Amino acid sequence: MSAHYLQNLNPAQLRSVEHPANIPLQILAGPGSGKTKVLTSRIAHLIAHHALPPSSICAVTFTNKAAGEMRARLATLIGEERTSQVRMGTFHALCAAFLRRHARRVGLEGNFTVCDADESKKLVAKLLKPYKEVLAESNLTLKEGTVLSMMSKAKAKGYTAGDALRIWTEWKAPPRAGASKVDPDMFLPEDLKRIVAWIYKEYEKTLRDTNSLDFDDLLLFGVKLFGEHKKVATWCRHVLVDEFQDTNTMQYDLMRHIAAPSRCVTVVGDPDQSIYGWRSAEIQNLAHMQRDFPSTVQIFLEQNYRSTASILAASVAIVSQDKTRIPKTLHTTHPAGPQPVLYSFPMDQIEVSFIAAEIKRLVAYTGGMLGWGDFVVLLRYNSLSRGIENALRKEGIPNRVLAGHRFFERMEIKDLLAYLQLVDNPHFLPAFSRIINVPGRTIGEKTVSELLLRAEELKLSPVEVTERIYDGKVPDIKPPVKRKLGPFVEALRTLRKLANEGTAPSKLIRCLLALVKYEDHLRKTQPDWQSRWDNVLELINFASEVEGGLVDQISASNGLEDEDRGVDDEEEWDNEPEELDWEELEDEGLVEAGKAPAAKAKGKAKETRAINDRDTPLRLFLQASMLSTDTETEKNDDKDSKDKVTIATCHAAKGLEWPVVMIPAVEPGVFPSSRADDIEEERRLLYVACTRAQGLLYLSHSTSRMFLGEVKPAGLSEFVSAVVLQNKHLFTERLPALSRHDRTLLAKVLQRTLPDESEVSRQIAEYKRTAKHPAWGDNAVFAVNKPRPQSSEPWTFPSSFQGALP
Ligand code: ATP
Ligand code: MG
Repeated sequence: MSAHYLQNLNPAQLRSVEHPANIPLQILAGPGSGKTKVLTSRIAHLIAHHALPPSSICAVTFTNKAAGEMRARLATLIGEERTSQVRMGTFHALCAAFLRRHARRVGLEGNFTVCDADESKKLVAKLLKPYKEVLAESNLTLKEGTVLSMMSKAKAKGYTAGDALRIWTEWKAPPRAGASKVDPDMFLPEDLKRIVAWIYKEYEKTLRDTNSLDFDDLLLFGVKLFGEHKKVATWCRHVLVDEFQDTNTMQYDLMRHIAAPSRCVTVVGDPDQSIYGWRSAEIQNLAHMQRDFPSTVQIFLEQNYRSTASILAASVAIVSQDKTRIPKTLHTTHPAGPQPVLYSFPMDQIEVSFIAAEIKRLVAYTGGMLGWGDFVVLLRYNSLSRGIENALRKEGIPNRVLAGHRFFERMEIKDLLAYLQLVDNPHFLPAFSRIINVPGRTIGEKTVSELLLRAEELKLSPVEVTERIYDGKVPDIKPPVKRKLGPFVEALRTLRKLANEGTAPSKLIRCLLALVKYEDHLRKTQPDWQSRWDNVLELINFASEVEGGLVDQISASNGLEDEDRGVDDEEEWDNEPEELDWEELEDEGLVEAGKAPAAKAKGKAKETRAINDRDTPLRLFLQASMLSTDTETEKNDDKDSKDKVTIATCHAAKGLEWPVVMIPAVEPGVFPSSRADDIEEERRLLYVACTRAQGLLYLSHSTSRMFLGEVKPAGLSEFVSAVVLQNKHLFTERLPALSRHDRTLLAKVLQRTLPDESEVSRQIAEYKRTAKHPAWGDNAVFAVNKPRPQSSEPWTFPSSFQGALP
C-alpha cells in the first residue's frame, strides 16, 4: 500500500512527488492543478522516504499566509512536531533569520532594525527635499515614488548606487520607444537619474548608520551572506520554492546559493500567473535554472481540481487573448456548474450594494451551505475597498480586509513599535524622530535637530545623547529642555530594563501604554480614538500569539536558529557564532588588520555582541511585525476569519481559493490599470483572480464611477469584452438560480454535505422577510453597455426587476 501522503494523487502528481530527490525539478502547471499540494506531499516524501531530517528542508513561499497554509497542510501529513522543524517561510523571513545569526559576516549588527515602506518613503522625501526647488526652476519634477521604485528595481538586480548610475545613464532608448516592456523610468532626463543615484547612495548610508535594513536589503544582504559564506547553507539538503514564476533576481540567487551544497531543488510555478513583473520578477528564472542546474527535469500537470468547468473555460478564454502566450492544456473532471456571471451597473454605488445583497441571497438559497467565509471580493486596487466595506457593513455582513488596510502601518501601531524599536536598537533614527514628541512633550523640531547634532558630535546614538542630557552630563543645555526629556528617558529606561530581563513583549506593551499614558493621548488627539485603541489591544494579542509561537515567521525563524542535528557537519554549524572572533573578522576583512582590540575590550565586545546577536523575545516580536508589513497583513487574519467575507487585492489572493469570487470594477483604467506598463501582466492578473473561484464567479463593472469626487464615465474592460465578442456563452447576465440541481453540484465541487431541503426552505423564507432588495432575482438583467442615466436623475430599481425569485 502506498504511503498516505501519496494517496489521491493523479499519475503526473505522483511522478512529481516521487521524482528522484537529487534531480532538480520544475513543475509547471496552471492554476488549481495541485502544484502547492504536490510541493507539500514532496516534503512529506523527502522526510518519510528519503529520511531527510525536517530541519534540512527549506521551503519558500510567497507570503507568510501561504507559509501558514502549507504548514497546516503538511501537519496533516507528517504531524505538528516534524512540520515545525521544516524551515518554511518567505525569502524575506529566511534572510532575516539567518542575518540575525550571522550579521557580522556581512558587516551588520545582529540587532539591526527592519524598516518598513513608510520609513523608507520618509527618508527619501527628506533626501529629495533639497532638490525640489532647483528642479522646479528647471520645470522638472521627481516624485518620491519614482525614486523609491527605481532604487527598489536596482536593488532587486543587486546594483549598488554606482552600478545603477552607470547603467541608467548608459541606457539608450530602443528604436521603437514606448514598446510595452520598456521601463518608463529609463526615459527620465539624465540629470534626474543622477539625482536618484545620489539619493540612493545617501539612503544606503543613512540605513547603515542607523543599523537598519529595508525589505530589499534583507534579500541583498541574504545573497551576500549565503554567496560569500558557503558553510552557512550546509544544513540544507533540499530547497523547494512555490510560485517560482514571481521570483526576482535576488530571490533566484538566494535559491541558487542555498541549494549549492546539495544541488537538490524543486520549484513549482505557472508563467500564466506571473504578476510581479512590476516588482522586478524575472520569468526568465525558469530558463536560468535550466542553465545553472543542467539536469533539470520538467513535469506538467494538466488537471484542474479547483474550479467548475465553466469557470475554467471563461478564465482560460481571458488569458488566451494574449497572443504571445504558450498555449497549455488544462482540463477538469468537474461538471460545468452555474455559468460565470457578467453584470453591468449604471453606477459604482449600485454595483457594491448588489454584491452585498447577492452574498446574502447566496447564503440563504444554499440553505447555509455557503457561509460568509466562503466569499471573496477581489479588487485591482486597495482604494476600491472602501465602497465594498461600506456596502457590506450596511447589510450587516462581517468582513475582513486582506492586504488592504495594513495593520502595522497604522499610526498608533507604529508609535508603539517605535518605542520598542528604540529599546532594541538605540541607533534607529526613524523611530526616535517619530516618538520623541509622542505623546506631546512640547519638544519642537529645533530641539530635535540640536539633539541629533549633539549625538553626531559625541558619536552617540540619539537615545544615548538624550539620556546624557537628562542626566546633566552634557554642558550648555537649558534646564527646561532637560525637564521635557524626562518622561521619554524614564520610559525608555524602564522598558529597557524589563526587556533585558526577558519580559514578554505583550507585557512590555502594557507597561509602555501605562508609562506614556497612551490611551489618554489618543483620547485627546484622535476623534476616532476608540477604534485606534482597539488596534492597540489587537497589537497586544498579536504579541501574545508571537510569544505562543503561533505566528509563522517566528516559528520559521526559530526553526532556522535551531541546532541542526541531522546535518553531517553539525559541530561546525553549532559553533559558528561563538567561533567568530576578531581574528576571523580580520581575515574576512571586516575589521582592519592589527586593529583587533586588546583582550579586555575583546571580552566586553563579545558580551555586547552576545546581547546584540541574541534572539530576544522583543527582537523576535519586532521582526514578526515588520515582516508582516511586506505584502500582506496577517493581523486582520484572526481566528474567526472563517466567518467573514474577505476583501482582498488580486495580488494578495495568489495561490488561494474560495467557493465564490466576485470581481467588481472590471473596467478600462482598472483592468488594465491606467498605471500599468505591461498590459499582458494585467490580463494575467485578471486570470489569477478568476481562477481563485471554485463554484461561482461574478465579474461586474459600472458605466459610471465616482473618481476623485467626480462622476466619470466607465465601461467594460477590453479583457472581457474581447472574450464576449468571440463567445457570448462563456458568461451570463442571469443570476444563478441555486435550484436543487445547482446546490447538489456545488456540494460536489466543494466536497460539502448537501443541506436539508427543509433548512433551505426555512432560510429562503427568512431571507424573503428580511432582505432589503428581494428585487435582485434571477431575472434581474442589466444589459452590458446599457446607457448611463443622467446624473441628475436618482437611480431606482425599475419595476421590471421585481421578478419571481427562484
Ligand atoms: P495555484 O496555481 O492557484 O497556486 P495550485 O496548482 O497550487 O494552484 P493547489 O492549491 O495545490 O493548486 O490545489 C488546488 C485545489 O485542488 C486544492 O483544493 C487541492 O486540495 C485540490 N487538489 C489538488 N490535487 C488534487 C487531487 N489529486 N485530488 C483532489 N484534490 C486535489
Ligand atoms: Mg499554489
